[in-house]
Amino acid sequence: MSIVIVGAGLAGATAATELREQGYTGKVVLVGAEEHPPYERPPLSKAYLLGSDPFEKALVHPAEWYAEHDVDLRLGVTATGLDTDAHVLTTSAGDLTYEQLLLATGSEPRVLDLAEEAGVPVAYLRTVEDSDRLREAFGDGRRIVVVGGGWIGLEVAAAARTAGSDVTVFEMEELPLLRVLGPTVAQVFADLHREHGVDLRLGTGVGAEDLEGADLVVAGIGVRPRVDLAHAGGLDVDNGVLVDARLRSSVPSVLAVGDIANQAHPRLGRRIRVEHWDTAIKQGKVAAHNLAGGEEEYEEMPYFFTDQYDLGMEYVGHASAEDEVVVHGSLEDREFRAFWLSDGDVVAAMHVNDWDAGDVIKAAVESGELPEDES
Ligand SMILES: Cc1cc2nc3c(=O)[nH]c(=O)nc-3n(C[C@H](O)[C@H](O)[C@H](O)COP(=O)(O)OP(=O)(O)OC[C@H]3O[C@@H](n4cnc5c(N)ncnc54)[C@H](O)[C@@H]3O)c2cc1C
Repeated sequence: MSIVIVGAGLAGATAATELREQGYTGKVVLVGAEEHPPYERPPLSKAYLLGSDPFEKALVHPAEWYAEHDVDLRLGVTATGLDTDAHVLTTSAGDLTYEQLLLATGSEPRVLDLAEEAGVPVAYLRTVEDSDRLREAFGDGRRIVVVGGGWIGLEVAAAARTAGSDVTVFEMEELPLLRVLGPTVAQVFADLHREHGVDLRLGTGVGAEDLEGADLVVAGIGVRPRVDLAHAGGLDVDNGVLVDARLRSSVPSVLAVGDIANQAHPRLGRRIRVEHWDTAIKQGKVAAHNLAGGEEEYEEMPYFFTDQYDLGMEYVGHASAEDEVVVHGSLEDREFRAFWLSDGDVVAAMHVNDWDAGDVIKAAVESGELPEDES
């Protein structure tokens, strides 16, 4: 029995771990293009970028764990072709045959063509090397332009300001995070950054002239799922690899997890592709179970967190900007719980700097019921 996992990121590494923890004794090969053992990416825009946590803290396991658990970790190896009829994966280090394959190739940043045109240095943030480059560029008086006021853009802006840089953020929408949070809560993030001295330019596109004089332009304009291999293998692909509730692709011997998986979510009753840390871990576990013969459905609601300056927040569920929002607590003091309602049901909830609220927001999304206002 052999299982090959492509992508030694969080989802792939978690699946390998879970296979061994469940007592699976067959061969497990974990193929990763990066040179590092699997690591978590959230610190790359937070504690690692700020210089407060070492890289080792982001590792899923110490490097020796893989050999100790008989996981054949092949680093610096890129999978380049897939023949799902013959069960052969082509890699930069030779062919691998498999009985079952798990695709966990994650995503890659969208490219900002404009910065190349403007002739200014442009950076993206996906790998530890990217994070190192940003940290080296930050510092007193350095001019950092961030394009995109999403999660990554705002976390980078916070880290750059904390390091003393002059920071400008360009966001096309009227508020950062508007489409995720809606206007009431998105305003909290706009205020937070302006109070910390970020020059936030909203509702405006960015032109080459806006980038002139920047020491570094950081593009945080979203990611694309890495689906080349899935295409090569003839899998059904549409905004990610299409998988069923059990994370199986259109080819039954191939599963997909993490950022690339566009799953038929059994509880939401529709397809969803989630680019979150928690999903990578939990789907990795369910996939391992199913690779070992199980029939488990993945039915967790999306969960996300962020840290920016002294603001910490957790978000559960899936709302749209048009959903009604009810706030318990103080937006001004940045200590509150927010609940998004669709047809009277709570479909998403978050807390900001209210660390007793984790169970309350999860329960609200589970039950659909708005809890009592405890503030
Ligand atoms: C800077 C940053 C901050 C983030 N912060 C948060 C946060 O605060 N909260 C949150 O919930 N989420 C956060 N995320 C998102 C989260 O990190 C991702 O959802 C998660 O990493 C997805 O895991 P994955 O295993 O699917 O993909 P990835 O982590 O992208 O791993 C995929 C791996 O596959 C490898 N690979 C790809 N193609 C091939 C190939 N052909 N051959 C071999 N190897 C290949 C890649 O090199 C990569 O190492 C953040 C992401 C970034 C980049």
